[in-house]
Amino acid sequence: MKRDRRIIAIAGAGIAGMTAALFLERAGFRVLLFEKSPKPATTGTGIQISPNAYKVLAELGLSRSLNTVGFVPNSIDIGCGLTGAPLIRFDLGETCLQRYGAPYTTIHRVDLAHILQTACEDREDIDIHRGSQVADLAAHANGLTLLCESQHQTTEEYVVSAVIGADGAWSTLRKYVHDSETPQFTGQIAWRALIDIESTNPALSRTSTGLWLGPNTHLVHYPVRAGNLLNVVAITPWTKDYAPRRGWLTQSALDDRTSVFEDWLPHLHELVGTRADWGGWPIFASTKAGKFANGPLCLIGDAAHAMVPYAAQGGACAIEDAYVLASQCNGSGDDLAAAFDQFEKSRRPRVQKIMRLSDNNRRIYHMKPPYRQFRDMIMNLSPQTGIQKRMDWMYGWEPVPQQVASPSGTPLVNRISRLWRSSDT
Ligand SMILES: Cc1cc2nc3c(=O)[nH]c(=O)nc-3n(C[C@H](O)[C@H](O)[C@H](O)COP(=O)(O)OP(=O)(O)OC[C@H]3O[C@@H](n4cnc5c(N)ncnc54)[C@H](O)[C@@H]3O)c2cc1C
Repeated sequence: MKRDRRIIAIAGAGIAGMTAALFLERAGFRVLLFEKSPKPATTGTGIQISPNAYKVLAELGLSRSLNTVGFVPNSIDIGCGLTGAPLIRFDLGETCLQRYGAPYTTIHRVDLAHILQTACEDREDIDIHRGSQVADLAAHANGLTLLCESQHQTTEEYVVSAVIGADGAWSTLRKYVHDSETPQFTGQIAWRALIDIESTNPALSRTSTGLWLGPNTHLVHYPVRAGNLLNVVAITPWTKDYAPRRGWLTQSALDDRTSVFEDWLPHLHELVGTRADWGGWPIFASTKAGKFANGPLCLIGDAAHAMVPYAAQGGACAIEDAYVLASQCNGSGDDLAAAFDQFEKSRRPRVQKIMRLSDNNRRIYHMKPPYRQFRDMIMNLSPQTGIQKRMDWMYGWEPVPQQVASPSGTPLVNRISRLWRSSDT
């Protein structure tokens, strides 16, 4: 056992853990990064990196790698999945570069993980322990003792100054932070696959993100891997009378995925029926942000605030967390518990606001008649500048968040209108 006041352990080498390791190392800490999976993943799906997250990764000098394997869609085109009627176009591409100083990029998760992992391996002060699961911890006067179980059934102890729980939605460390939030099953499944873009129907855009809305369901597709693969996510309700287990569902019937799309445009129905390596991901999420920190233990990413993925911001928040946490630790001297407290205070309002936006998006996307007609009307009437403005607080994020004025509203149309604009509050 060795001890050093500047050693921080991180549980979990996902997006949150690896980004935090890079920023903490840069802030002068020695980082022990524990990951239970013995090997980096070789399969996975896509993820959208919005400008707020891209800016943080660019700070680490990773833009060139991101630009090589990523893709920059021209826009997010929202339409009705049943009729094909266009509802709204949200310009990305050049608009994001000019407005936020960073692109909106889509990327294969394996590529993103590889970029972060390679960067971690390049830093002398980051020790990556793969196949090592953080099982327990104990606080004492000298810091924390961490108990890690390896894949070979051996147990090792590490004495460190502080621990970051970046161990995802089903965090082991969360139980040590009282009043934290445990994600619950939301009743929705995200069916995900990557499809060779050349094999897809030409009616599907190969340059933009498509977002198609229907009652209780929606469908998203966007190119990744420099535009060679199409990432598809189909959100459907879970109709069985038992809750699904955590993690990927691989044995489901084709019908579980496709039946809700039967009345949709034929090429969209065909897309969800495409033969590919589909997996169903039961969505577990919390509706509010609880506590993140307890003394020398701090949760980040999904471990702290697993959210529904309808604003595509869970990973972005994890990346922002990593940046802000390291900035707080940088100026903290030896008092990391105080830094974690500060982190929680500065992050909670923004994370809560993003969680609210994500949940509002679910309600907006999945509306049934008659609300759907009002929604469509409001979306159709929204000018591009208004839509951009709605997202400025989120995509234009800098370490010190900006406050934006609150809106007003009246009856039914405006109730939906308020929901649409509620991220401005
Ligand atoms: C359908 C869907 C689409 C999404 N799309 C987007 C998007 O477009 N943009 C976006 O920003 N976000 C998106 N998200 C959210 C995003 O995927 C997550 O918020 C993000 O992956 C969380 O990263 P994390 O590092 O906190 O957790 P995880 O990715 O879950 O990583 C946790 C890591 O910790 C490891 N681990 C767990 N327990 C232990 C332990 N005890 N010891 C050691 N290691 C451990 C795990 O093996 C894992 O590697 C989406 C989510 C879903 C479900």
